[in-house]
Amino acid sequence: MNDMRPMIEVRGARKSYGPLEVLKGIDLSVARGQIIAVIGPSGSGKSTLLRSINHLETLDGGEVWLDGVQANQKLERRAFERHINQVRQQMGMVFQHFNLFPHLSVADNITIAPVKLKGMARDKARELALKMLDKVGLADKIDAYPARLSGGQKQRVAIARALAMQPKVMLFDEATSALDPELVDEVNLVMKQLASEHMTMVIVTHEMRFAAEVADKVLFMADGAVVEEGTPDELFSNPKQERTRTFLRKFL
Ligand code: ADP
Ligand code: MG
Repeated sequence: MNDMRPMIEVRGARKSYGPLEVLKGIDLSVARGQIIAVIGPSGSGKSTLLRSINHLETLDGGEVWLDGVQANQKLERRAFERHINQVRQQMGMVFQHFNLFPHLSVADNITIAPVKLKGMARDKARELALKMLDKVGLADKIDAYPARLSGGQKQRVAIARALAMQPKVMLFDEATSALDPELVDEVNLVMKQLASEHMTMVIVTHEMRFAAEVADKVLFMADGAVVEEGTPDELFSNPKQERTRTFLRKFL
C-alpha cells in the first residue's frame, strides 16, 4: 500500500512576487520511480515550482509532500528548520549553472554534505564519492578541481554530488541548457541511466526530444498554471490546447 503513495505531491501551490502571481495553484503528483518532464515558456514558473518543492522558495499557499511527509508544515521556527533540512536531504537538485564549490576538489564537493550533514566518516564518504563518480563516468576526476572540468563534466559531478546524499528524488532545472551542444548528450545519458534505475525525477527541460524519450508524463506550464499534461505521446503528438500547440510549434 505504501508504494502507492506518491513520492512527491504538490497541492494547490501558490506563489507571488509582489503583484506578480508566479504559481497560480499548481497540482503535481509524482509516483515512486516516475519521471515527469516540465516544459513551458521562459517565465512560466517552472523554476519556482522546482524551488518550492525543495523549499528554496516558500509557498504562499498549498502543500508539498515528500514520500508521505508534508515538507511545508507549520512548526515553530527552530523545529521547522530541523524538519525542512531533514526533508531537503532527501531531494537532490541540479541547476542550470553547475554550482560546484570552485575551491574544493571534486571529492570534497561530493563528500562535504554526507560528512557535514550525515556525520559520515571521511573515508566512507570518499568511497561513496568514488562510487557516485563511477556512475557518472568520472571516477578518474576525483581529485580534480572544477576549473579543470568541462561544463558537461561539472554537471555530471553535480549529479554525483546530489546522488551521494542518497536522495529519494532528483530535481533537474534545465541541467543542460548552459552547456555547449556537444556536451548535452553526456549529461542526458546520466539522467537516462538514473531513469533506468527507477529514480523518481522531475526534469525541467527545453529539450523536447529528450523529454519525449525519458519522461513518463509531460507537464506543460504557462503563466503559472499547468495548461496540459499527458504522456509524451499525448502531449507531443496530439496536444489538446492551442497554447500547447503554439509552444511546441517553435521546436519543430
Ligand atoms: P521559468 O523557470 O519557467 O522560466 P521562473 O519560475 O524562473 O520561470 O519565473 C517565473 C516568473 O517569476 C518570472 O516572471 C520571473 O521573472 C519571476 N521571478 C522569479 N524569481 C523571482 C524573484 N526572486 N523575485 C521576483 N520575481 C521573480
Ligand atoms: Mg527556469
